[in-house]
Amino acid sequence: MYDIGHFIGGKHVAGTSGRNAEIFNPATGEVQGQVALASADELRAAVENAKAAQPAWAATNPQRRARVMMKFVDLLNRDMDKLAEALSKEHGKTFPDAKGDVQRGLEVAEFCIGAPQMMKGEFSEGAGPGIDIYSIRQPLGVVAGITPFNFPAMIPMWKFCPAIAAGNAFILKPSERDPSVPMMLAELMMEAGLPAGILNVVNGDKGAVDAILDDPDIAAIGFVGSTAIAKYIYGRGCANGKRVQCFGGAKNHMIVMPDADMDKAVDALIGAGYGAAGERCMAVSVAVPVGEETADRLIEKLVPKVEALKIGPYTAGNDVDFGPLVTREAQKRVLGLVDRGVEEGAKLVVDGRTFKMQGYEDGFFVGACLFDNVTKDMDIYKTEIFGPVLSVARAKDYEAALDLPMNHEYGNGVAIFTRDGDAARDFASRINIGMVGINVPIPVPLSYYTFGGWKASGFGDLNQHGADGFRFYTRTKTVTSRWPSGIKDGAEFSIPTMK
Ligand code: NAD
Repeated sequence: MYDIGHFIGGKHVAGTSGRNAEIFNPATGEVQGQVALASADELRAAVENAKAAQPAWAATNPQRRARVMMKFVDLLNRDMDKLAEALSKEHGKTFPDAKGDVQRGLEVAEFCIGAPQMMKGEFSEGAGPGIDIYSIRQPLGVVAGITPFNFPAMIPMWKFCPAIAAGNAFILKPSERDPSVPMMLAELMMEAGLPAGILNVVNGDKGAVDAILDDPDIAAIGFVGSTAIAKYIYGRGCANGKRVQCFGGAKNHMIVMPDADMDKAVDALIGAGYGAAGERCMAVSVAVPVGEETADRLIEKLVPKVEALKIGPYTAGNDVDFGPLVTREAQKRVLGLVDRGVEEGAKLVVDGRTFKMQGYEDGFFVGACLFDNVTKDMDIYKTEIFGPVLSVARAKDYEAALDLPMNHEYGNGVAIFTRDGDAARDFASRINIGMVGINVPIPVPLSYYTFGGWKASGFGDLNQHGADGFRFYTRTKTVTSRWPSGIKDGAEFSIPTMK
């Protein structure tokens, strides 16, 4: 058993609210530790620390700030296995997948080494008589990130790396389900040379989140999690005058055209549908084969591969395709949705509901499930299941296939598998979804592009990482200047123009 408190002012501090949450090992179902849930006073203490430390950090030249990120990247590489092990133990994902979680965050830290370039402004000499205009990018002050359980390394880094490299102080409120890795990341940032108070980790639940939303000194909030909470945070944060960006849930479709390489499409669906037990916002949860013949071929090839998936604890290393779900509630919810799909008339062609992991009978495992004949009126089609459940929704032609993701509430990711360049190009152009894959099932953009969904998958007008990461956590100031030799005598009463 271990206790996790908070990380405030450069050191670990115990929680004082008297409230804690249990941390489970999802593979065994056992409680392995507890995490403190912060009160508004504890959040306030973190903000005070951040506020005091931020001006000196903002005044540190960007190259020196970038060097902290450079060292941080080295330390992440040094501790990769340790981080991945701690991550798997609380999240349940396989060890190689946990390393990917750390690596995808590390790549954003690498991008942030370019902070001096990202922070550059613009300059126009002689924009008017004796007038020069320039714009500068400045940090916002104290900013925050609220992150989900499913990427406890990657998403905190997507938030705090650009914010800190830009000169802000940061309050991170990670998921209470797997809080160890965010604390380790804060320790590594200190070891990399970050001054105390610039990265604070405040653990907690709704109480801590509400304190962030209402704190007058927090200028911006980046959130990632479910859509219901995203809407709540966006509404309350904006009403309090903050800059807010919220990324929500998803239901990602993969269209399989009749000319697609079927073996490759099936492999893509297996990895993207069942990897991380489907607990990814970019998981493919709906396959849309075009035409009955394509659908029959797809099902025929999918079934044996779904049945052969290897499920187990992360300790089994490379021998496991996916692990347990994160909590018992998540397990019950997913099993309930599979029951619902059967009631609604979808055809459950692979039924993983009775799966029991030998030796881990109390773990939160769900066996792989595959539905055929799913239609758009069904709850299992409308809802984000977030489990190892793939639905096949048959479409009679390309236009009918396109209609499905176009009219779905969510708009995070989508993919098309085809050999037809015209169809792929038409699809990428017309689809109303933020991230598109062409023969790529999980089109998560690399760190130097931006990541963000449309419709109910994203609220706010800037994306995560890439240039938008810096834009979100900075603001632009534009300075118009002239010196006495350029100033004409006498007052001017009309608006200056360039006529
Ligand atoms: P969640 O919404 O339950 O929790 C996210 C964060 O909000 C956590 O820090 C949690 O403590 C906090 N929170 C939970 N309930 C709250 C409440 N009532 N009031 C205030 N704060 C609250 O999400 P989760 O289960 O941790 O993560 C899974 C969800 O995140 C899925 O819907 C998934 O699609 C989504 N997700 C989206 C993206 C994306 O970029 N679009 C990426 C990863 C995950």
